[in-house]
Amino acid sequence: MFDVPSDMYLSVEGGTARSGYMRLEAERYFLDVKWEGQRPDKVKPVEEVILSLIKQLEKDGQGKLTVQGKRPTRVFEHDALLYNIKSGLEERMYVWYCEESLRVVIFRFAFMSLDNAARAIIRRGLTSLKCHGEEINYWTVLESSFKAPPSFLLSERKMMVGRTYLLLSEEEIKPFPPAERRREILFEYFTMANVRYEENYKDLDKWMEKSYQKGLKKRYGLKFQSSDTKKLNNHEVITRKGKGGKGLLTRRSSVYTNASWYCDDLNTIYSVTLSEHVTKPLPMKRQIDQEAFESFAEEVISSIRCH
Ligand SMILES: [Zn+2]
Ligand SMILES: [Zn+2]
Repeated sequence: MFDVPSDMYLSVEGGTARSGYMRLEAERYFLDVKWEGQRPDKVKPVEEVILSLIKQLEKDGQGKLTVQGKRPTRVFEHDALLYNIKSGLEERMYVWYCEESLRVVIFRFAFMSLDNAARAIIRRGLTSLKCHGEEINYWTVLESSFKAPPSFLLSERKMMVGRTYLLLSEEEIKPFPPAERRREILFEYFTMANVRYEENYKDLDKWMEKSYQKGLKKRYGLKFQSSDTKKLNNHEVITRKGKGGKGLLTRRSSVYTNASWYCDDLNTIYSVTLSEHVTKPLPMKRQIDQEAFESFAEEVISSIRCH
């Protein structure tokens, strides 16, 4: 995670937390970030990583990249190397090995010209950067955001006309004794709510019953048992709690909390479902820590900013 200027937008991204790539672009510059998992006993020297990247870029038709200088520097808590590179653009490449997350990380800043504004962007990006050990991840979707522990990884994402969702999940597998625990955050929203759900976009109980619950049931097989109303971001939020359980041999039990509300600032209905599932072969039935789950759900829900 790091800060970028507000005129930058994410144009490409791919991969996983372990190895991946993203490009952020603005009108007069771009930033490529690459990270690649490397086992500590097989770490390549970072010079080698940069030189092979340069070769690759030249092969991809990005013109000649000339290294004009390099020097050691620090990024976050790591020794890094900084390369000054001249291509058609002024480039600054930072490379380091993060021994905490076991990844080589490359930041490639490319500017039309390296003026003071450009230097400020580099400085701000690098001083705000944390390549490991974050306690909380921020997830941003459209204009909304929420926080989740870093152990939650993106496992599904769908963006359709009028409907978008993210599914984050965290998995914990214990071999001895065998048990599996999974927590999920399903963050979903529906835009143009007053058109799409003309009849009940203002009555979220009805909306839930008529338009949403079926899909949720299909995914989770859950039943809600209680509901409550509270305030969040100036909206009336309905929270529901539920339970579920299935499987005769590998007994699975689940708990759920859902929060749903209509955001009139964005004319959008949000519905966020948090869940925990544990599986354990009988007779070693594993219990869900209800209290811990509830405080986790409360923490995620209260971190949501919808508009
Ligand atoms: Zn690191
Ligand atoms: Zn809102």
